Amino acid sequence: MSAQMVQAAYIVAALFFIMSLAGLSKQTSAKAGNYYGIVGMAIALISTILGPDSQGVSWVILAMVIGAGIGIRLAKKVEMTQMPELVAVLHSFVGLAAVLVGYNSFIDAPLLASAAEHTIHLVEVFVGVFIGAVTFTGSIVAYGKLSGMIKSSPLNLPHKHKLNLIAVLVSIWLLIHFVKADGSVWALILMTFIAFAFGYHLVASIGGADMPVVVSMLNSYSGWAAAAAGFMLANDLLIVTGALVGSSGAILSYIMCKAMNRSFVSVIAGGFGQEVAVSSDQEMGEYHETTAEEVAELLKNSQSVIITPGYGMAVAQAQYPVFDITEKLRSRGINVRFGIHPVAGRLPGHMNVLLAEAKVPYDIVLEMDEINDDFPQTDTVLVIGANDTVNPAALEDPTSPIAGMPVLEVWNAKQVIVFKRSMNTGYAGVQNPLFFKDNTQMLFGDAKASVEAISKALQ
Ligand code: NDP
Repeated sequence: MSAQMVQAAYIVAALFFIMSLAGLSKQTSAKAGNYYGIVGMAIALISTILGPDSQGVSWVILAMVIGAGIGIRLAKKVEMTQMPELVAVLHSFVGLAAVLVGYNSFIDAPLLASAAEHTIHLVEVFVGVFIGAVTFTGSIVAYGKLSGMIKSSPLNLPHKHKLNLIAVLVSIWLLIHFVKADGSVWALILMTFIAFAFGYHLVASIGGADMPVVVSMLNSYSGWAAAAAGFMLANDLLIVTGALVGSSGAILSYIMCKAMNRSFVSVIAGGFGQEVAVSSDQEMGEYHETTAEEVAELLKNSQSVIITPGYGMAVAQAQYPVFDITEKLRSRGINVRFGIHPVAGRLPGHMNVLLAEAKVPYDIVLEMDEINDDFPQTDTVLVIGANDTVNPAALEDPTSPIAGMPVLEVWNAKQVIVFKRSMNTGYAGVQNPLFFKDNTQMLFGDAKASVEAISKALQ
């Protein structure tokens, strides 16, 4: 393929990526959005491999076959609940790739016409390696926190914000030295280690409840790392694609910060300005237990029901029996709706995906803001595997790590049934006063088994 044909193919691929993003922004068009993305990526790969700049194509194809083999195996094996971890690992690959491309571009520097172009190239290499290294270690810590390998509570090193500031200032100083010395490899290596440590520390300092923003922030960083690699390789499509991922990730992070009432700057600066309270296991009083049969009876006598699902519904894969009881209740003329918290589960849109999978109609699935005022007129709320997202401490306890986060105000309903396996805390590690309220009853057990038992009792 000639260089012109490759450029034309890149423009077509970029258009497919834009259509893909547009498609993914709505549930009804999300599937089509995925297909556009696949077509765009296929065009991008084929035109790059067949283009005039490609050398050693057989090696590239061998690497792709091995990579695709591992990818297909992993994608088939991964559970829906492990998706966030998988996404975090994939971000770390993008970061590592940017570091390697940076070093490669430094060692095998392209022939550049002017001194100014040479300086720009050095800056591209340095910045690309910095962003890539931060993304790499940051994503690995995010993976650790999401998979439970690392504790989700924030790491609180003494003077943590000063440490971050020093890392940034020293890296800027090294950049100046790197450019002045016409590419000092030691400055590059030293900065890489600082950036690795900085990325690790930045994400490790963030508490469990702020992880959704961190995951989407790392998504954004991985986009900017790819764009930086695009500059180093003089590949326009990589620049465009990286910028699309970088900016959409940044917009998503901003939206999530607003939804969680968090300061965007504070979260990306490693929890800057937040006083972190240690969660206490203080005695909160008595809780009341119930049975599936009693819940079925309660539901039969209700006129309006709201279901608020959370991470536990995903773990239990309870969305199918949940749809089943929804249909049974609706056929009795009971008004059943779903209330979705923006960070329920472990992925943005996690609950919407699960409910769509189980064929729950979109029109009864409402966002938190749309349903919060309706709880006082609701007879029964079923909290299925949710915890942090229904925790009144967020509104009532200013010392709580989740203070200020808007939550589903389920306790305002007449009766609340909480489905979970134990009295354990949620992801943020905070105890939930909801469980001890007079109008709350606990239904212990795996959410799927509990919902199936209710479904049986409803027959
Ligand atoms: P939580 O993680 O707060 O709580 C989930 C609850 O589900 C737990 O209390 C657990 O209790 C219960 N559970 C687990 N497995 C089962 C099961 N098989 N059957 C029944 N119950 C079960 O969930 P939420 O969805 O309310 O909140 C999400 C949290 O995750 C927030 O803190 C959010 O900030 C964070 N987060 C969200 C991300 C996102 O993008 N959405 C990304 C990263 C983090 P028990 O063990 O007793 O059963």
